Amino acid sequence: MNKEQIINTHSHINMLKERSVEEALQNCIDENITIIVPSYDDKSIFEVDELTKKYEKVFGYVGVFPEEVKCFSDKTLTDMGNIIKNNNKIIGVGEIGLDYYWDKSFVDLQKEVFIKQIEFANQMNLPINVHCREAYFDTLNILKEHNKNSQVIMHCFSGSLEFAKECIKRSSAKHSS
Ligand SMILES: [Zn+2]
Repeated sequence: MNKEQIINTHSHINMLKERSVEEALQNCIDENITIIVPSYDDKSIFEVDELTKKYEKVFGYVGVFPEEVKCFSDKTLTDMGNIIKNNNKIIGVGEIGLDYYWDKSFVDLQKEVFIKQIEFANQMNLPINVHCREAYFDTLNILKEHNKNSQVIMHCFSGSLEFAKECIKRSSAKHSS
């Protein structure tokens, strides 16, 4: 009997400590699970690119995580663009977003890089994988103002019911238009 196809839309399989990527992926193959691996900085975008080329069941997002935005530069965007152009298994931009839980000392930079990456994803016509932690109001406002055409996959969700409803409302509005 065919096993149901399951897609894990956010797995840092390359950051596992207790087992190898091969070992973890063997489980996925056995269970018919496809994995999408997000990157988190200017170096891991290349790691994700390689993983998707090496393993059939692995797809990827390229992007810079809010806590890592200090490494972000114009070159990062150029690199992301080149990776996307040459690899059709890179299917989104992520993980990107805002995180006020760990360190609030560079919130402005987080916002700036988040916006740049949203605009980049819009240009590329790719979905965005949004990490949002204790930054619900700002995340929603930035998405409302800057996201034109990218589908949004919310991640690291621990927000309120109101915030969830607002996300759902916006996504159904997009689908029906
Ligand atoms: Zn993550």
